[in-house]
Amino acid sequence: MAQTPNFKQELVAVFGKPVAENPTQPMMEAAFRGLGLDWRYLTMEVDPAGLADAVRGARAMGFAGFNCTIPHKVAVIPYLDGLGKSAELMGAVNCVVRRDGKLIGENTDGKGFLKALEARVSPKGKRVVLLGAGGAARAIGVEVGLAGAAHITLVNRDEKRGRELAGLLSSRVGLSIDFVRWDRVFRIPEETGIVVNATSVGLFPDLQARLELDFDSLLPSMLAADVIPNPPRTHFVRSAEEKGCEVIDGLEMLVGQGLIGIKYWTGRDADPALMRKALLDIFSR
Ligand code: NDP
Repeated sequence: MAQTPNFKQELVAVFGKPVAENPTQPMMEAAFRGLGLDWRYLTMEVDPAGLADAVRGARAMGFAGFNCTIPHKVAVIPYLDGLGKSAELMGAVNCVVRRDGKLIGENTDGKGFLKALEARVSPKGKRVVLLGAGGAARAIGVEVGLAGAAHITLVNRDEKRGRELAGLLSSRVGLSIDFVRWDRVFRIPEETGIVVNATSVGLFPDLQARLELDFDSLLPSMLAADVIPNPPRTHFVRSAEEKGCEVIDGLEMLVGQGLIGIKYWTGRDADPALMRKALLDIFSR
């Protein structure tokens, strides 16, 4: 007997504002095509005043979930039915998943980073230098801490923000941590195993921006990771490669969180190479 045709796609999305320059859609749809799934990932500009209605709309239309980006990562929480552990610790949600009819907030920013990191080296027992104390640093600090890092040196310009994050990582994740105020060129301690740029320094269009680092303190024994997806080859990435470090670029983190989102929504494992290629095609245009 002929199969009944199915013209109904499954829907996921990203809600943000501004959102037009967000490259997640081509990456996710490349992954769906690779899996043979007739899914759509929509890039939706949602004003803060419309967030509650947007979430209601996603429920009504049976979305499998959605990503949240600036400015909705914290504001979305009251409209959800529950939070996963990382999202609860971070107080921020970037991925909502429909489970048994309920919308559950997860945070895949740090998990995406960890997925990329663990493909090279485990953070367990390692000393980590974390540059920055914003949302990305918080997500990475929590996941690296939960994964068993021995110590984090947190470096940030704004002291209040830095100390707040250091306090959270110490009290909620039980990390051994010290905070360094970033008011001069920072020298990476020799015993460091992993250095992470979690600041926005290097992000398009400010391509000349440089981290206030003593780049000679980068050693081949260190793994250097950057969160900046655009451009992927930041000054930090290039400098670390020149010093012989193993390097993870910001696309790997983006792909890592996309893989986790797809697994949450579809239960399937997507192909990271297809996803990275979709991003490289965009950034090399
Ligand atoms: P936030 O605005 O929350 O934090 C920005 C951080 O960068 C702060 O710690 C800030 O320091 C620091 N910073 C900014 N300018 C400088 C400077 N000139 N020198 C030193 N530090 C500086 O941003 P997010 O944490 O949300 O995002 C940070 C970056 O991470 C963005 O570029 C974003 O694109 C990227 N990102 C990448 C992801 C990926 O998947 N690849 C996922 C999520 C984010 P201070 O507190 O002193 O102002």
